[in-house]
Amino acid sequence: MKSLRNLLQEAQQNKRAIGHFNISDLVLVKAVFSAARDLNVPVLVGLSEGEREFVGTRQIAAFIRALRDEFDYPIYLNADHTHSLAKGVETAKAGFDSIVFDLSALPFEENIRQTKQAVEALKSINPAMLVEGEIGDIGSGSEIHDKAPDLAKGLSSPEEAKHFVESTGVDILAPAVGNMHGMLKSMVAGETKKHLQIDRIAAIKQATGVFLTLHGGSGTEDADFVRAIPAGINIIHINTELRVAWRRGVEEGLAKNPDEVVPYKILPPAVDRVKEVVASRLRLFNGEQHFAHAK
Ligand SMILES: [Zn+2]
Repeated sequence: MKSLRNLLQEAQQNKRAIGHFNISDLVLVKAVFSAARDLNVPVLVGLSEGEREFVGTRQIAAFIRALRDEFDYPIYLNADHTHSLAKGVETAKAGFDSIVFDLSALPFEENIRQTKQAVEALKSINPAMLVEGEIGDIGSGSEIHDKAPDLAKGLSSPEEAKHFVESTGVDILAPAVGNMHGMLKSMVAGETKKHLQIDRIAAIKQATGVFLTLHGGSGTEDADFVRAIPAGINIIHINTELRVAWRRGVEEGLAKNPDEVVPYKILPPAVDRVKEVVASRLRLFNGEQHFAHAK
């Protein structure tokens, strides 16, 4: 199996981005894996600290490894938004392929100091693990928000991005480029979309030369994703859209079978709804034209 670093290099050359989808139960794992296999594209699954607490850090690592081995399939595992070295060490020991070490809430120089320490500590446990650092402010929580946050103050500049990358040695950077975690109600309703600052992405790529992750991709205008990838985005996170689809699918399954108690008879609509979202995002991130004839 190709390393995640090699996969990202290859995707970058081919102007594709790797889709990153958060998972916290079997419905989500099944939906993501099945959508990726139908399209035959690599995929990254991730769990935040809260999601790992629910599922089990070593347990999900064993599960994803089993899928990867049995199907000889390029599915990779990311420790999403990890806020302490102790939590990061757990994932390095469990064999995660990458980690989002997120101290973006701290003052900038403190973020640099602690992220640098984390890069050294995590790579001493697993030299192949890719470490992502975060700068700027894109809000927290992949949830539905009532009110739009003010993103303007937290945007990342190419200068601070370069300083951060050079000082910490991170492999991947998550900048603030107009993206935000979660979705507004109007986005869930399909009335509004997020827009990305493509020139800022290109300038940060130019200044840093590292892989870039776009967090909070849910609800973004399709055309903005398409332009963000050649500008330098290598990984795109989608979480809230999956959570919305999961909830609608569970409700649909329950409504269809009011007297049913068998989980595997209730949950298939949830798998289907999530899978539709994942498939549409993967087609976009991997170049829609390649899938003209795919299901
Ligand atoms: Zn995120």
